[in-house]
Amino acid sequence: MSKNYRSELVGAFGCPIDENPTGVMEEAAFAAKGLDYRYLTIKVNPGCLKEAMDGVKAMNMRGINLTIPHKVEVLKYLDELSPAAKIIGAVNMVVNENGKLYGDNTDGKGYLTSLKNAGVSVEGKHVTVLGAGGAARAISVECALAGAKKITIANIERQQGEELVELLNTRTQAKAEFVMWDKAFAVPEDTDIFSNATSVGLYPNVNEKPNVDYDTVKDHMIVTDVIFNDPHSLFLQEAEKRGAKTINGLGMLVNQGALNFTMWTKTEAPVDVMVQTLKQEFGL
Ligand code: NDP
Repeated sequence: MSKNYRSELVGAFGCPIDENPTGVMEEAAFAAKGLDYRYLTIKVNPGCLKEAMDGVKAMNMRGINLTIPHKVEVLKYLDELSPAAKIIGAVNMVVNENGKLYGDNTDGKGYLTSLKNAGVSVEGKHVTVLGAGGAARAISVECALAGAKKITIANIERQQGEELVELLNTRTQAKAEFVMWDKAFAVPEDTDIFSNATSVGLYPNVNEKPNVDYDTVKDHMIVTDVIFNDPHSLFLQEAEKRGAKTINGLGMLVNQGALNFTMWTKTEAPVDVMVQTLKQEFGL
């Protein structure tokens, strides 16, 4: 019998990308499952994405992750999109099915999985989101598609925030509203899930927290953060002080990575191995 010396290739395209730990997590998962896959962390400069995506096809790569600044531009080079990716307008993972490129957005799905693992459902809930960038779009759209009743978007820049609210109101069943975030944000009292989807608090700026009137955080709220490094962010610490249950950004990161793993390999992801690997990388 002849031997197969060819590995399946996946990876990530981004710029900057040198400090992205996803590859270590995915390679540990491939090893744990005995799969001959390799994950390459590749710097693709702005303006070079078309050539890179042609490369995915030319080299028969099984798939690719996209990160800053390629998540929106990549739509031009794909053959098919998931329903959520169509609404979000951004893709963070691609599967290559025999030369046809299928794009999905697993950020919001990873977020929902981390809530589900903590016993939290978004159905019928009021979700309040800080920010209107890529993570906020993915989180709010997936929450809306999963049955959230009301979504409040607070953003420091009006146009981006209003665009996201318009998108939610026209493309999903949820009722969305925009709140201008120009002073310490007062969390609406009927909020069930309060989500930081801004980049405030990300390493190395771990001493920063979103400008919130933290006394408006109540103990009936579930408070979540996209920040994964440091996962015990100041934002979550303030919420804990008010008695709220908190969910950190590590779960979202691992769960979106696990979804990508499964979509590429059609194998269940070894989530525990992925969590341990990331914790080790972050020195936790
Ligand atoms: P974007 O740049 O698309 O969005 C960032 C958002 O944060 C924007 O709405 C921006 O507002 C807002 N913002 C930035 N600084 C401030 C501030 N000082 N006060 C209030 N709002 C602010 O980034 P992404 O959405 O892609 O990523 C956001 C964060 O989420 C990053 O830290 C990223 O690492 C993390 N992330 C985590 C994931 C996980 O799996 N845990 C997955 C994806 C992202 P404006 O544009 O109006 O300035």
